[in-house]
Amino acid sequence: MQSYAFVFRECPGCAELNVVKDGFYYCAHCDGPLPRDPVRPGGSGR
Ligand SMILES: [Zn+2]
Repeated sequence: MQSYAFVFRECPGCAELNVVKDGFYYCAHCDGPLPRDPVRPGGSGR
């Protein structure tokens, strides 16, 4: 059984939503690095 999980990351640089494929964490729009950790909306920090 194989499952494809698409990982979405919002670019911190241009706020575009990117699909991360094969661990390629770079924005397709501005080539900026994408955060590897999932961004929690309204995070309370730590
Ligand atoms: Zn970007």
